[in-house]
Amino acid sequence: MKIIMLGAPGAGKGTQAKQIADKYGIPHISTGDIFRANLKQGTELGKKAKEYMDQGLLVPDELTCDLVMDRISQEDCKNGFVLDGFPRTIPQAEALDTALAKIGQKMDYAIDVDVPDENIINRMSGRRACLNCGATYHIVSIPTKVEGVCDRCGNAVVLRDDDQPETVKKRLEVYHAQTQPLIDYYKKQDILKTVDGTQPMEKVFDAIVEILGA
Ligand code: ADP
Ligand code: ADP
Ligand code: ZN
Repeated sequence: MKIIMLGAPGAGKGTQAKQIADKYGIPHISTGDIFRANLKQGTELGKKAKEYMDQGLLVPDELTCDLVMDRISQEDCKNGFVLDGFPRTIPQAEALDTALAKIGQKMDYAIDVDVPDENIINRMSGRRACLNCGATYHIVSIPTKVEGVCDRCGNAVVLRDDDQPETVKKRLEVYHAQTQPLIDYYKKQDILKTVDGTQPMEKVFDAIVEILGA
């Protein structure tokens, strides 16, 4: 099962993708997590990516596409994968389709987690992320058991640099200009499914399981 998560920044793609990965036993591939891991390790890619991320801009396709193509060609992706945060542009989507076509495959589902802009700023200002294990929480709707501490690994959870309200506004603009066109792209391929992302986390997941099958 090969799945793409679509949706605005903060729509809940990562939250849902992790649960999909657990339930269906497929890897969760988040380009944002890959960039942040690179930054933490101090790689050239990480440093370059941060320049764009901190401004709320997309990292250029040249730095993004090969990385994903390498990752999905690995052994653990043989039975499928869930992409979270990729593709984010039409050229990225085309690169993905081309790479899969070469091995006689195609994506199965593009799930759009639909959340209006009004809800996004609130979601993002309350998001807390563990930069060690990638877990995400929300101070109101999905709090950590102990304030400021990751349930999963015990490290500190923080407000990401790019989750400051001014940067979130920019990211939303970028989303509408560059990523939203993918909704039509996958509608034309007949693999688009939309779920109402304003529901509580469990309800959103139920709607996704309904689409993918239990
Ligand atoms: P969110 O979870 O809020 O959607 P991500 O963690 O997916 O954010 O991405 C954080 C940032 O990393 C983006 O704002 C962008 O700068 C960069 N990024 C992540 N994925 C991509 C991609 N596919 N193409 C370009 N930039 C990306
Ligand atoms: P994305 O990966 O699309 O950027 P996240 O999964 O990181 O989004 O979710 C953004 C924020 O909203 C996080 O703080 C997360 O805990 C919270 N969140 C996710 N899903 C829901 C939901 N259904 N209801 C309320 N808050 C949610
Ligand atoms: Zn953690």
